[in-house]
Amino acid sequence: MKLLMHACCAPCSVYCVDTLRKEGIEPTLYWFNPNIHPYTEYTARRDCLKEYSKIMSLETIFEEDYGLDEFCKNVIDDIDTRCTKYCYPVRLERTFQYAKENGYDTVTTTLLYSIYQNHDYIKFLCEKYSKEYGIDFLYRNFREGFWVGHDKAKNELNLYMQKYCGCIFSEEDRYNNSNSPRPVLPDNFEFLQTRRSIVIKKEKENKEQYMDLLLEADPEKEVIQKYLKDGELFVLIYKDKITCVAVVTRIDDNICELKNIATEEQYRGKGFGKKLIQYLFENYKNTYDKMIVGTTENNIPFYIKQGFDRYEKTIKNFFVDHYNKEIWDGDLHCIDMYYYSKDLKKEKKYK
Ligand code: SF4
Repeated sequence: MKLLMHACCAPCSVYCVDTLRKEGIEPTLYWFNPNIHPYTEYTARRDCLKEYSKIMSLETIFEEDYGLDEFCKNVIDDIDTRCTKYCYPVRLERTFQYAKENGYDTVTTTLLYSIYQNHDYIKFLCEKYSKEYGIDFLYRNFREGFWVGHDKAKNELNLYMQKYCGCIFSEEDRYNNSNSPRPVLPDNFEFLQTRRSIVIKKEKENKEQYMDLLLEADPEKEVIQKYLKDGELFVLIYKDKITCVAVVTRIDDNICELKNIATEEQYRGKGFGKKLIQYLFENYKNTYDKMIVGTTENNIPFYIKQGFDRYEKTIKNFFVDHYNKEIWDGDLHCIDMYYYSKDLKKEKKYK
């Protein structure tokens, strides 16, 4: 096996290299990280990897690209989804490309080591590029050794240990949010993730004020009123604007149901629905075993992508039996309701 391992930094490489060498695999490290800012931090991490490579007699390829301008241009429209939409893909795809052009047959990445990264999404991307480039992907759950590697990097090898993920926005999250007092939010509000521009409100009173938006996802007011009465309603607020709402009801002691989720038109396709769903998974994982959702055929791929990956059942004629008028979803005349579920106990924290 000729393995190229994308290396985000030296400390994250320690456990990965040790693990692979124990298996008899000798990786070549590949440094390509235009996501590390500012320049002094970029050079500190790069130079630390140079030093570590020397100590460990590792072959390491350094592809120099301090990419502040390019990075900012690519993430500025939606800073909150920067990791999955730009930062992981740009680094991983380049690694597969380099492997293809330079005679490596397998790729892996130290990004699979960090407990702070979106492990499943990184794995998904590697599998995707593996198919596209015809290069094998070597998967290991390096996170199992996170604290072992951390301890060795810090106390045994005395490596430079960075204090934040890499980009300038993660630096802000690390220092600004932790050192300055967080603004006080009214009752029933909480911050979503670390960026303060997104807030979730659990609405307890006057839930019908969101009826217009709820009707975007479920066209009959009487149907909504039935589940809204006992359902819990969550509102995602972005920069003080109502962006997305969701209603969740209890089915029994183990199961809850996502009855409605709707996003204001101007915010669609920007990941707000996904953020709200991920929040709901976190919010309910200690209360229920699973969350179900009923959907039309058209929306099945969307819900599967969000994590509702288990088919539960189909209720024939649901829309005919429960609604007073015909229900259309674009060109689709809705007849049956399809149920999918998410195992909440398996949920991981998404960045
Ligand atoms: S937080 Fe980390 S993974 Fe996400 S964009 Fe910034 S550097 Fe990349």
